[in-house]
Amino acid sequence: MAGYASHEYDVVVIGAGGAGLRAAIESSAAGARTLIICKSLLGKAHTVMAEGGMAAAMANVDDRDSWKVHFADTMRGGQYLNNFRMAELHAKQAPDRVRELEAWGAVFDRTADGRILQRNFGGHRYPRLAHVGDRTGLELIRTLQDQGVHQGIDVQMECTVVDLLLDGGRVAGCLYYDRERGQFRVVRTSAIVLATGGVGRAYKITSNSWEYTGDGQALAYRAGAELMDMEFVQFHPTGMVWPPSVRGILVTEGVRGEGGVLRNKDGKRFMFADIPENYRSSTADNEEEGWRYVCGDKSARRPPELLTRDHVARCIMREVRDGRGSPHGGVFLDISWIKEKLKDAPTHIKKKLPSMYHQFKQLADIDITQEPMEVGPTTHYIMGGVRVDGDTQMTNVPGLFAAGEVAAGLHGANRLGGNSLSDLLVFGKLAGEHAAKFAKAQTAPKIDEESVQVGIKSALAPFERTSGENPYAVQFALQDLMQDKVGIVRVEKEMKEALDGLQGLKRRAAATKVEGNREFNPGWHTAIDLANLMVVSEAITLCALERKESRGGHYRDDHPKKDEATFGTCNLVIKRGADGSMQLSRRPLTKLPAELQQVVEENK
Ligand SMILES: Cc1cc2nc3c(=O)[nH]c(=O)nc-3n(C[C@H](O)[C@H](O)[C@H](O)COP(=O)(O)OP(=O)(O)OC[C@H]3O[C@@H](n4cnc5c(N)ncnc54)[C@H](O)[C@@H]3O)c2cc1C
Repeated sequence: MAGYASHEYDVVVIGAGGAGLRAAIESSAAGARTLIICKSLLGKAHTVMAEGGMAAAMANVDDRDSWKVHFADTMRGGQYLNNFRMAELHAKQAPDRVRELEAWGAVFDRTADGRILQRNFGGHRYPRLAHVGDRTGLELIRTLQDQGVHQGIDVQMECTVVDLLLDGGRVAGCLYYDRERGQFRVVRTSAIVLATGGVGRAYKITSNSWEYTGDGQALAYRAGAELMDMEFVQFHPTGMVWPPSVRGILVTEGVRGEGGVLRNKDGKRFMFADIPENYRSSTADNEEEGWRYVCGDKSARRPPELLTRDHVARCIMREVRDGRGSPHGGVFLDISWIKEKLKDAPTHIKKKLPSMYHQFKQLADIDITQEPMEVGPTTHYIMGGVRVDGDTQMTNVPGLFAAGEVAAGLHGANRLGGNSLSDLLVFGKLAGEHAAKFAKAQTAPKIDEESVQVGIKSALAPFERTSGENPYAVQFALQDLMQDKVGIVRVEKEMKEALDGLQGLKRRAAATKVEGNREFNPGWHTAIDLANLMVVSEAITLCALERKESRGGHYRDDHPKKDEATFGTCNLVIKRGADGSMQLSRRPLTKLPAELQQVVEENK
């Protein structure tokens, strides 16, 4: 029998990004003994990369803003498939979560009269993103981490959770190993908060960090939880396209929020040519009005570059496909042009977008204060994920909670930029609070020794095989497959080919072999990640095949229109069947209560 170290806590949070840290702070403040387990070093979670800011209707820059406008913007951006309760809680509570962060020491950019400054972002009617230059995620993580550490939360970092353990259907703990030495550990607990982030590493071109292998979604699925709306993957319109080694790295929407414009190879601002009907009344129809908006003129409407991400990404794809793209297969994003309008433009750009300035200078030898950037779509975010209750964040597995990018509901078919960081704070807090409450009401669960041994054996299997493929080869093949066949533009034939391909890849993934020993063995980590990537890729593909319409992040070339009657009324839910196969069903949406419907109507 394989040995392992054992621990015991009231609440275990898996993940130390914004959602995990916020959940742990809340659970610990409620008196629950709380442990955070995370794959990377504390302070290095994916959230640290967030750039543009966090959306909260504080009305510091435009006093017309309110939770109602934020709610309506989020629902419209999500094309009304959102969990409305989550959208309501998010819009109402985000301002308090941002002010709380400030009280804990976050140093936000300021308005002239000393309030938290808010910037424009796509799909938000008013300037709404509280920010710290273009390094907001770093400040968020630093602040939460300081707060958490001072509160005495235990952290086991560089550890990967490989299995959730159950006791009669409820949470009993989890099995994990430390990545440095390869030793297994088990923690017994009645409540687990999944805060493991997204799935971007299933794709070849992505802005996401190495951690994004869909672990939380796959752990939840295997434990019997439901996944929802997995077809809604967000392709951010502006990733770097050149040089090839940096392809996919994000170029923040903050560039467009500060006045950056998109042009094709002929120098034309092509976004003016395609403004969707439901945004027409709130979008500028000429360049001069767009610039006035960026400068804060309340009578002006948003420039079309600030339309929602799904739409901007498709417009860029069209320019490239029709031969009007930039030399390396993207389009031009230009912020340097504002020197026509501002005397101190280079200083202004460096102050507002310091990371972007350095990113392009160092990685592409481009000075963005003087010349345009080349950009194109990159896999960025998944709106779908683990299905949770809107008020408590608990899944259908008792004791299993989820918050942040791993969870589904808030963003519907498309996330507005900035709504993730505030999502982490609002729902991280709620998940931590309810996990602590749940844990207190439970008797101690029992750990099933057989499940632990099965989990360890399965994790070590790649060492035991005498032959087999290198796990990286399988991961690269998967990324190519998903990029080519289940990417921005989808058609039935290709997605069916992807499903077939995934069956073959699953077999290959289950037969990989790794060399060496358990210490510092990235090949072994990848072999373990693969099983999770397969689960999320299959779920994305199945849902994308089922949704025979185009909506939000999901675009079908063979069904380019929305089908309100069939698909505007349901979420797609994935569950593991008794025979181990993936099962999909349509779950009817709950009707919006009259008072929220009125908020939507009033803010159309
Ligand atoms: C470049 C970039 C810029 C962005 N800018 C913005 C922005 O300006 N505004 C905005 O709202 N959103 C932005 N986003 C999106 C936002 O940053 C993410 O959606 C968000 O940070 C996710 O946070 P999280 O807490 O859910 O997960 P993460 O921060 O990703 O944390 C996940 C944690 O889970 C751990 N983990 C994962 N799997 C396991 C496992 N098996 N075992 C143990 N631990 C595990 C990881 O180690 C990590 O600690 C940006 C994204 C990118 C990529």
